[in-house]
This record gives sequence, structure tokens and C-alpha cells, in this order.
Amino acid sequence: MSETVPGVINAEAEKDQILKAYRALLRALKPTLGKGDKDMIRLAFDMALEAHKDMRRKTGEPYILHPLAVALICAEEIGLGPLAIVCALLHDTVEDTYMTLEDIRSSFGEKAATIVDGLTKISGVFDKGTSLQAENFRKMLLTLSDDIRVILIKLADRLHNMRTLDSMQREKQLKIASETAYLYAPLAHRLGLYAFKTELEDLSMRYTEPEVYQDITNRLTQTKRERTRFINEFTVPIKEELTKQGFSFEVKGRSKSIHSIWNKMKRQGVTFDEIYDLFAIRIIIDAPEDVEKAMCWKAYSIITDYYHPNPDRLRDWISTPKATGYESLHTTVMGPSGKWVEVQIRSRRMDESGEKGYAAHWKYKESAAETALDEWIQKIRELLESPETNALDFIDDFKLNLFADEIFVFTPTGDMKSLPSQATALDFAFEIHTDLGSKCIGAKVNHKLVPLSHKLRSGDQVEILTSNKQTPKEDWLKYVVTAKAKSKIKGALKEEKKTVAEDGKEILERKFKHLKIQFNNDNLNELLAYYKIPNTLELYYRIAKGVIDIQDLRDFANEKGSIKMKTPQRIEPHSLEQIVKNVRGSSDMLVLGENMEKIDYKLSPCCNPIPGDDVFGFITINEGIKIHRVNCPNAIQLMSNYAYRIVKAKWTNQQQIAFLAGVRMTGIDEVGVVNKISKVISSELKVNMRSISIESNDGIFEGTIMLFVHDTHHLDKLLKKLKEIHGILTVSRIDGGRSADLN
Ligand code: MN
Repeated sequence: MSETVPGVINAEAEKDQILKAYRALLRALKPTLGKGDKDMIRLAFDMALEAHKDMRRKTGEPYILHPLAVALICAEEIGLGPLAIVCALLHDTVEDTYMTLEDIRSSFGEKAATIVDGLTKISGVFDKGTSLQAENFRKMLLTLSDDIRVILIKLADRLHNMRTLDSMQREKQLKIASETAYLYAPLAHRLGLYAFKTELEDLSMRYTEPEVYQDITNRLTQTKRERTRFINEFTVPIKEELTKQGFSFEVKGRSKSIHSIWNKMKRQGVTFDEIYDLFAIRIIIDAPEDVEKAMCWKAYSIITDYYHPNPDRLRDWISTPKATGYESLHTTVMGPSGKWVEVQIRSRRMDESGEKGYAAHWKYKESAAETALDEWIQKIRELLESPETNALDFIDDFKLNLFADEIFVFTPTGDMKSLPSQATALDFAFEIHTDLGSKCIGAKVNHKLVPLSHKLRSGDQVEILTSNKQTPKEDWLKYVVTAKAKSKIKGALKEEKKTVAEDGKEILERKFKHLKIQFNNDNLNELLAYYKIPNTLELYYRIAKGVIDIQDLRDFANEKGSIKMKTPQRIEPHSLEQIVKNVRGSSDMLVLGENMEKIDYKLSPCCNPIPGDDVFGFITINEGIKIHRVNCPNAIQLMSNYAYRIVKAKWTNQQQIAFLAGVRMTGIDEVGVVNKISKVISSELKVNMRSISIESNDGIFEGTIMLFVHDTHHLDKLLKKLKEIHGILTVSRIDGGRSADLN
């Protein structure tokens, strides 16, 4: 991200700015500085300053301000110590300047050199490379298991780059923002850095969904005063009572993040105004560690004396912390004027470790959270070491694990295991031991017999039943959600297939001999083409299983004769690169609408883009270029994993062609409402409908219309008209993904 910009520069002012940043860093570090630490940090700063002295960021600022900012984030927001700060200051030197690892080793020692080396490697494979990100992510995690500080500094680096993303080009912004949402935010979450995760998600959304982001920001600002009033009203009696009972505490009213508000709007199909829990109230109690749990529950009891709790919404992460180490007591109570309010109760220590995540645990060594993180790293290691895991599979499984909530279940002897929610008895079996999983035939959950596909719930006690005759089945993949179980089952199936295939190969060899056909590659390839089977393993396997009738071979032999047949067509390994080159070659930007015939592109059915949408093209192997909306649910994954297959695209103005779009609405089921809807659509706006379906339930209806429009402008006009119809409550365009079933 560096660039040298010539020009007139106010050197004095810049020097001031740099010194200011350096002093701010020292202030933030003060509590952790030991003897000699200050000199060490000064040396690191001087070395970085000298190394980056001729470099500038895209923003035009002196480059050194970036490592200084990253170091400040490490100190202030993660709470890292002096050695990590040294590494943060030097994190870009080996990658971008004349400095070597040897320089760092001789000045700061082996540990610092290892950490900077890790950071350089990640940056090399990750930031500079554009493809195969999943594989790189895997490497990055391998480094993680060496020293967690590498990842923490990398996260701080990414956070600062995201905070200063404005000065980058739009394409770069999209790539970096998608990657942040896809890889870094989940990672921050898993490390317990909640504040980081939230900021990364919000910043990413600012670039991938600029309009929604702005809209929600504006609405939050507009409703702020009202919210503050409500929070005050709500907390007054609680504050009084807590004070009376001798508590020392702090009350915070916190808004949900923009990203989580948007998620909720999408997930529940509601508008901003319909979200009732826009904020949570957090009560932070100053309590010695040995009584903090009791004090939190006492506060809970005081709060629920004033406000009635929703019994379904009590979460006790104090007795059982999340695997990330998160500890807190959450309840949702009925506040004044009948609004549900989420209240989070926790001690000062819990709050700090919630904000700063893993790093905060260094301060409170006794915390159980340390073990939880170790367990997590252990799990990642097991996954990484298992050879049958394909990198992309791995990242999907991994992502699933990151986002799913956990359940806690018990072994017959009372050991607790954490699993992702939706985990089954079979997942549990593999979690305990591979052998137990492979031979599982069922389970007893709370002493009741259940099938191995049975979904577990928190608190279940699980006993696995096995049989020596049992082996993993293809079906099992449908029953498991943990990455570990999946990879073990896939591995076992592949092994089994190989053994069976060996028999198949022998059968085929005999048959070939019998029919006097030479057993060579060319003839095998002919046979593969004849049966339309991708590889010989599969062919042998099907023969052994009797799926392919070996008697058919006679027909094959008769048809082809036992003579040597023509060389089968081979798939060019570079064909994809060739396609990419061909498309890129002509022009940099794909203009949609004018050269429809010249270039083979299709509008992707997963998000139904229409003119006016922000779009990009994705080069597929068999179906030409597919056009997606930038905010298509698949887009983040595509941009992040296959950046090199993405082409820029934009629309030309056109009114002649119609595009399919979906609209969803809800309303009150009054007589004639359907009539009114179709009247607006067909006669007033002259839009052609492809389908309309309306479902009514207890006086409320939900409808979906697929119709043809010219562009976003046209669609917006239609949505506005529909909203004006009496009885209609909500109208929205259907996002990608959901409309797939309408094809
Ligand atoms: Mn950097």
C-alpha cells in the first residue's frame, strides 16, 4: 500500500504529526512498560522511521504513520505488550524496505524476528496474491498456532487499512472489504475480539453496501435523542436500587452495530422501524473475582424486580463461558411502554476481556478462557493436519463453525463438550474419538434411544452405541455439521472406495483380456467417455459395485472393435486462464446491454441483477460470464476466493429490454387488495408480471411477485406505488438467494 509521491510537502508539520503519534503510543503503553522497554520501542520506532522515510501511503501521508497507528491499536484496543508493539512498528519493513529479518533478530531477538517473519509471510501470500485465498488462509492459521501475536497484529493492520480505505480505488475497496467480511471479521470473532469484529463488519459494509450503510447511519442519528431518553427512563430506578444496595457499577446503553441491524432486517424481513432491540443496556459491576458471579446474579434479581424478564431469553455465559471465553449474563426484560430491552450484566473483568478478547486474559491468568482458546487452536490444528481436507471445503466448514452458536453436552461420565448448534449424536461421537464415530450405530440421549442423526441440545447427556460391523456411510455427510466429522467421514469413504475399486480393476482386466481388448490408457479413456465417467477410480468402483453391467462391454467392444481407438480429447489445463485473457484482452470494462451478442454473458439467477444495480462479471468455466449484483450473497465469497476471475461491468442506458425482478410485500388482508396490486402493476405502470403468489394467514398476507422491469429506477417507482396502496405494510425487492426457488 505504499507509493512515492513527489511534490511539495510541509516537512515541519509532518514531523510534528509523527512525533505526536509516537507520544500517543507511549502514553497508551505506559502501564505495561518495564525497565528498558522504552528504549527498545524507541529503537524500533527509529528503525521503522528510517526504513520508510521515502514512502507515502495512498492517502499522501508519510508511511510511518501507518505502523504507528497499527501499534497504537495493538496497545490501546488489544492491550498487547512491548514486544508486540516493537513488531507492529516493524511489521512492513521486511516486506517493503531494505531491512532484513537478520536486522530485526540482532536488535530485538529471536521472538521478534519470528513474529515479523510471520507477518511478512502472511502479507506476501495474502495481500499481494489474488487467488487461492483459502489455501493462504490455511497457511495463516498454521502460523497462528506458533504465536498468536502474529494474528493479533495482522488484525490491527487490517483494521487500520479498513479505516483508511477511502483513498483506494473502488475495485480494490471491494476486494479488501469482501475479504475482511469473509475472513478477518470471523477470525476476530473467534478470538473474542468483539469490538474488532463489529468495526470490521461495519467498515466492510460501508464499501460493499454503501447505500444501506448510509441509510441506517442516518436513521440511527435521527433516533438518537429518543433512544437516550428511553435508556435514561429505563435505568433510573435500577441505578437507585443498585446504589442503595452498595454496588459500585457503570451503566452503558449501546446501539447495535450497523451490520447487525442490517442482518436482522434481512433475516426477519423487517424495516428499520420494526426492530425493537436496537440497543442493549450493559451493567458493569466492580467486584472482586471470587464474588463476581454472585454479585451479577444479585443485580439480575434487582433488575427483574422492576422489569419482567422473558424466560426464553436468559443466557448464562458466566457459569458456562462461550468457547471464545465470553462471559456475561444476558436477559431480555419488558421495559416501560411495553418494549423489550436486552440487559447484559457482567463484572469489570468480564467486560474488559469481552472487549479485548484473548489478550485481556493475559492479565487474568486464572481465567478458564485460556483453556478454551487452546482447545480451539488444537481443533484447527487437527483439521489442518488431516490430509484429505481440501482447502476450500475447509474454509466452508470453518466458516460454518465460526458463525454457528455453540451447544454444551456431556459424556456419560460428566465431561463437558462444546459443539456447534445443529450438531448430531454422530458429530458428538467423532468429537470424542474417530473410532467411536466410525462404528456409531446410534446413541442414548438422556437415557433414551435415538438414531445417530439425532440433533443434540445444550445440556444433553450422550452415550454412543457402537458395533464392530459398522462403517461410515455416504449418507452420514448429511447428518454432521462439524468439520472434524465431515473430514473423517470423507476420508473413510475414499479409503473404502479405493479398496472396492481394486476389485473392480481386476474384473475389468479379466474382461478386457477375454474380449481381446488391450488394457491401456487410450482404451480406458474411450471407455470412460462411453460411460461418461470422470475417472478410472469411479469406473472401477462402479464395476465392482455392479452399477455398470460388465456384459455391456461386449457392445462397447463390438462398436469400437478391439483396434486402437483415436486419442480422446483432453481438457486443456490452461483453458480458464485463456478465457480470462480473451475477455480481458478486448477492454477493461464489460458494458452490459450493448454487446449482448458479442460476449457470452448471463444475468445470474441468484440475485437477478437489473440495469442500475452495482454489478460485476464472474468468469465461469462452462457458462461464460455471469453477472452478479455487488451485494449478492454469493459475491463476497466469489470476490474473496476468485478475484482473478472477476471483470468490471457496468450498464448502458436502455429501455428496450426487460429484466426479471422480485418484489415481496406484506399487508393486511382486505377484500380486493390483490386486485389493487395487480391494477397498479399492469395498468398504471404497464409492467408485465411473470408470477404472483399471495399467502394469507390470520388476516395478514405475504406476497411475492416476479415481474419485468427496465432498471432500478423503474423498480423503485413501482415499489413506491405499491407502498401507497391501502392495507400494504411493507414492500421490498427480493434479495439474491431467496429468489432462486422462483425460477
Ligand atoms: Mn501494514
